[in-house]
Amino acid sequence: PKTAYVRTKPHLNIGTMGHVDHGKTTLTAAITKVLAERGTGTFVPFDRIDRAPEEAARGITINIAHVEYETDTRHYAHIDMPGHADYVKNMVTGAAQLDGAILVVSALDGIMPQTAEHVLLARQVGVDHIVVALNKADGTGDEELIDLVELEVRDLLTQHGYGGDSVPVVRVSGLRALEGDPRWTASVEALLDAVDTYVPMPERYLDAPFLLPVENVLTITGRGTVVTGAVERGTVRIGDRVEVLGADLESVVTGLETFGKPMEEAQAGDNVALLLRGVPRDAVRRGHVVAAPGSVVPRRRFSARVYVLSAREGGRTTPVSSGYRPQFYIRTADVVGDIDLGEVGVARPGETVTVNVELGREVPLEAGLGFAMREGGRTVGAGTVTAVS
Ligand code: GDP
Ligand code: MG
Repeated sequence: PKTAYVRTKPHLNIGTMGHVDHGKTTLTAAITKVLAERGTGTFVPFDRIDRAPEEAARGITINIAHVEYETDTRHYAHIDMPGHADYVKNMVTGAAQLDGAILVVSALDGIMPQTAEHVLLARQVGVDHIVVALNKADGTGDEELIDLVELEVRDLLTQHGYGGDSVPVVRVSGLRALEGDPRWTASVEALLDAVDTYVPMPERYLDAPFLLPVENVLTITGRGTVVTGAVERGTVRIGDRVEVLGADLESVVTGLETFGKPMEEAQAGDNVALLLRGVPRDAVRRGHVVAAPGSVVPRRRFSARVYVLSAREGGRTTPVSSGYRPQFYIRTADVVGDIDLGEVGVARPGETVTVNVELGREVPLEAGLGFAMREGGRTVGAGTVTAVS
């Protein structure tokens, strides 16, 4: 029998972000190794984290790697996203529900385009706390060079409202820590201490009606359909009745797990798998929402404040006008939508504007919800719902 999950410490969701090849996955593996040695985690090797998006037997795309570990004071779910597009889909939309992030910057390369884009997008989606890992600090004998990179990173963070002067910047080597070098093992310990102390415990809406955006759907032979994701708000227990919005059906939760451990009750912030009674596998998809029955109503129309990314940030070079139809990433859903800019008519890259949107299908919407707009594989905008009609 599996060991039940025992909630002894507060749970937080964090993730690594930053430019490709700056060492996010190596650092993630190193963190699990350091904590496994402390006895509060299980070592997850690099190649178990860094799997390319894989098609599972039933066509499920796995595009986020989660690992779990504990420090002395907290339980963390840590997300390491394999590719840049995964950041946009999962972080920008808030689907990853990060309470804080570790920004990984190679001390050898400094700030690169995706470093800046991830910081911008983290700000847009409300990730309020960033800790910096100046990685590959083993690779340069030149401390003054690292000092310059540190200044540059603090400056970037300040530009995006993160108070770059007070953000912890820790010089680490994920690679050397993974190899067991004591100096660099200590650097990863110092990074974890910075995360523990600098990222505050977020407010959890435990009393709100239960809601979980579906990230993945799996079938467990002989048991039924399982949906996975992070609980956005409320709590859910085995035996609770739920509604699956998008699939238009009701069901009962007959099983509940977090990282393979059964649990009695899942709560806001937890990363969980829910076993749903009598739900056909093909009826549920990523983008659907599991919620307390009657607690949310799906809608197609809303107004929003949208920031149109500048070309420098990877966005468009030309303005957007009414009738523009990008893809909207809302929670875990990906849906086309029509933009109406009203009297203003056009929005130039770099501008923030008010828009009315009509989506191609109904999704649960509410004021305050964040979303991203994408077109042809790039992010063109990031916004917040202001009203639903
Ligand atoms: P990601 O794309 O950000 O996940 O980067 P990876 O973790 O895949 O690392 C990219 C490359 O950088 C690999 O060849 C790693 O071995 C190397 N690397 C990662 N961390 C370090 C480090 O701390 N020091 C050095 N010298 N190389 C590193
Ligand atoms: Mg990686």
